[in-house]
Amino acid sequence: MAKLIFEDVTKCFNDVVAVDRFNLTIAEGEFVALVGPSGCGKTTSLRMLAGLESISSGAVHVGDKDVTRLAARDRNLAMVFQSYALYPHLTAAENIGFSLTLKKMLKAEIATRVHQAANRMGIAHLLHRRPRELSGGQRQRVAVARCIVREPAAFLFDEPLSNLDAKLRGTARIEITRLQKALGITTLYVTHDQVEAMTMADRIVIMEGGRIRQIGAPMDLYHNPCDLFVATFLGSPAMNVLTGTLGRDGHRVSFTTGGVTLQLLEGIDCPAGPATLGLRPERIRAEPAHAAGDLTLPASVVHVERLGAETLVQFEVTGMPGLELTARLSGTLALARGDRRAFSVPAEALYLFDAEGRSVPVRRAQRFIPAFSEAV
Ligand code: ATP
Repeated sequence: MAKLIFEDVTKCFNDVVAVDRFNLTIAEGEFVALVGPSGCGKTTSLRMLAGLESISSGAVHVGDKDVTRLAARDRNLAMVFQSYALYPHLTAAENIGFSLTLKKMLKAEIATRVHQAANRMGIAHLLHRRPRELSGGQRQRVAVARCIVREPAAFLFDEPLSNLDAKLRGTARIEITRLQKALGITTLYVTHDQVEAMTMADRIVIMEGGRIRQIGAPMDLYHNPCDLFVATFLGSPAMNVLTGTLGRDGHRVSFTTGGVTLQLLEGIDCPAGPATLGLRPERIRAEPAHAAGDLTLPASVVHVERLGAETLVQFEVTGMPGLELTARLSGTLALARGDRRAFSVPAEALYLFDAEGRSVPVRRAQRFIPAFSEAV
C-alpha cells in the first residue's frame, strides 16, 4: 500500500475545465470516496491518477514516486470499472489471473493466488465460468478478485456498484469496505451515491463543477457542511431548505420566509439580506417544542410515506403555502394526510446559509429562540 497524492491537478478538454486545481493526499491504508453530481469531474480525476487520462497541469504521486509521466501499467494501481471490463472469452480464473500471466509468473503460483482471491470473494465455485455465465454481482466479485491478486499499491474504484440492484449494492458495500480494511490497502472510490460515500469511506471529497467543495470525515461533513451544496447533497431525504430574508433591528435578528417571521438569537455573523435556513428531516419531531430555544412549526400533513421502520411525512407549515417540509419519523407514529399538528426542531439542529450559500457559523448558544410568529 502507498499514499496517493494529487498536486494541483487540472484537466481541460478543449475549452471545458473538467478538473480544476485538484489537491488531495490519501494516506496509506485510507479509504477516500470522491462524490458529486454527474459531470463534476470525479471519473476524470480517478483516470488521471490511473494513467488513463493525460494531465493538463499538476502532478500525481503514488507513494514517494511522481508517476505523472508513467504509463498506466507502470503505476502499480488496480482498478475496478463500472462495466467490470472482464475479458468475455476468458474464464473467471483466467480473468482474475490475467495480470499475473502477463508478468510470466509460474502457473502454480498464479493458481494459488487466484484461488486465495476467489475464496476471499466467495466465488471459488465459479472459476470455470465465463463472464456471460455470471450474474452482475458475481462479475463484480471477479473484478475485485482480479485487483486483489495483483497486490497493488492502491485500489481505484469507478462506480463499481451502479449495475447492481439495491439489495446487492447494500451487501457489496459492506463486503468491499471489510475487504479494504482487512487488506489495509489505500483506496480511492468514485461514486455519485452519497450513501456509498457516507457508509464506506474514512474521508469524503465532495466535488462540483470540477472543483473540490469540501473534504472531511463523513459525519463531520454531515454535521458541519461548508455550504448549502454540501448540506443538501449529503443526507436522504435531503435537508429541508427555506429561502428567505435575514433582518436586523439593532441587536435583534430575524428570518422571514413566506408569511412567517422567525426570531433568531443575537450575535449571528451574517449581514441582513437573502439567506437560507436548513432543517434535517430526522431532526424534526411530531410534537410541539419542549425546550427553550427549540422551534415549533404548526402545520398540516400533506403526504405520508410508510417505509416500515420509519415514516416520511411531508407537511405544510401554517402561513407558508406551497412550501412543503419533510420529516423522517418513527414507523409507529399514527399520522394521516390532512392531520393538523405542531412539528418542532431543536435549536441546535437548525442551519443558516448566507446569500452566497456559505454556512454561517452559529454557535450553539447563539441559535434560535423559540419564537414563531406569523407576520402581520
Ligand atoms: P459521471 O458521474 O456522470 O460519470 P463525473 O463526475 O465522473 O460524471 P467526468 O466524467 O469526470 O464527470 O466529466 C467531467 C467533465 O468533463 C464533464 O463536463 C464531461 O462532459 C467532460 N469530459 C469528460 N471526458 C471528456 C472527453 N473525453 N472529452 C470532452 N469532455 C469530456
